[in-house]
Formats: sequence, structure tokens, C-alpha cells
Amino acid sequence: MRTAIISDIHANLEALQVVLDHIEGQKVDRIICLGDVLGYGPNPVECVDLVAEKCEWSLLGNHDFGVLYEPTNFNVAAEQAAYWTRAQFEAEQDKVKATTRWEFLGRLKVRVMDQGYLCVHGTPRRPINEYLFPEDAINSPVKMQQIFDRIETRCMVGHTHVPGVFTDEPDFYPPGDVDGVYKFRDDEKVIINPGSVGQPRDLDPRASYAILNEESVEFFRLEYDVEAVIGKIKEAEELSDWLGERLREGR
Ligand code: ZN
Repeated sequence: MRTAIISDIHANLEALQVVLDHIEGQKVDRIICLGDVLGYGPNPVECVDLVAEKCEWSLLGNHDFGVLYEPTNFNVAAEQAAYWTRAQFEAEQDKVKATTRWEFLGRLKVRVMDQGYLCVHGTPRRPINEYLFPEDAINSPVKMQQIFDRIETRCMVGHTHVPGVFTDEPDFYPPGDVDGVYKFRDDEKVIINPGSVGQPRDLDPRASYAILNEESVEFFRLEYDVEAVIGKIKEAEELSDWLGERLREGR
């Protein structure tokens, strides 16, 4: 079974389309999404429709939660984007389409057990909001221990927008350290982060996703039309220009 894992699309349609086109050529059996389809970007409606159509299931991210319910603990730009995003869904004139979208968003899952993997947007401790950063593997042994205690063997998360594999050593392997492919060992627990489709934050602006099979996980980076997205963000008055600038820098 080959599974494409996408996460943190953040309403970036250009990035999502490039990723979905690439996945098309990879002979995967299915696509799953670890949440944050919404927030920050200019094409929330189109991205939700694509995820609903292409993904077997999707998780509820903190930004999806913010649009659906209430933006809590967001900075000003993110909060404004959440309200603007909600308005885009409310502007839909076709009642059937509007209802279908709200229902899809309302069904997003907080945690999924999928073929031995615990899947959450944030961490197994706080599935929607907690960040598991690469530096935690070095700086936060207690946090790592508590998180790995909640995992039988394998887990996948999004949320930080930084791709790589955590092991219960604890250690963190960015894709660049393993030639893009991490091979699993029988004697370790792992947490996989596929990185972000629509707002990478590892100083590489290219869209990130991963393909998982029984033995390994492979990471991919793809260029997309960043300037087109920046242009759309500039046009939408309620979306801060900074949300575009950070795409160019991958941060
Ligand atoms: Zn996110």
C-alpha cells in the first residue's frame, strides 16, 4: 500500500495542484490529509473541494478549527485570515455546495488510527494545538518521552510545517539527512511529519509532501508559482501581505 500524506495546505491552490499532479504520477493507492486545509491563503473554497474529492480522510487542524468555530491563540494576521476565510464560504450562492462544504469541514477528525498509525494534526498529547518541533528532540526530553508514551509504534503529525522523522531515541531526521527516504527499523517508534504543502517553514519555499509504504517514507519537494499566490494575497485586503512574503522565503 502506497499512501500519499499531505498536510498544512493553508488555502494555497497553486501548491496543492502541483502536489496532486505529482502524486498522480506516483501510483499511490490513496491520499490522506493531516489538516489545516484552511487559513492564511487566498483559495480556501477551492482547496476544500479538492481535498474532499481526492483524500480518503482529513484531520481537523487548528486553522480549520479557527474558521469553523473560533480563532483562538492566533496572531492578528491569522485571526483576520480566519474571518476572511469564513466569509468566502458564506459567500457561496449555491446552497447545496455551501452545505456540502460545511458538512465536510464539520466531519474533519481530531485523531485517526490508520493501519497502525496514530494520526493527529498537532501531537498525541494535544491533537489540534501542540507543536512538535525538530529541536524538541534535543531540548525537551520529557516532552518527547510523554509524546512517545502515547504512541504504540508509529504516528504522523503536521502543524509545524517542517518535514522529517522523529524517533524515540529521541532524534530528528530531516529529509536532507537521509537522501529523502527514511527506512523504518523494527526496534524504534517513529513520528512522521510530511511538511507543508502550502506554507513551508524550513526555509525551502517548495511545497512538501510524503509517500509512505510498509518499509519507508519518502519526502518530496516541488516548485510552484509562489508569485501567483503572493499576488492573490495582495489583492485580498483582509489578508496581510506578510502572509505572501513568508511563502517566498519558506518561513
Ligand atoms: Zn498549519
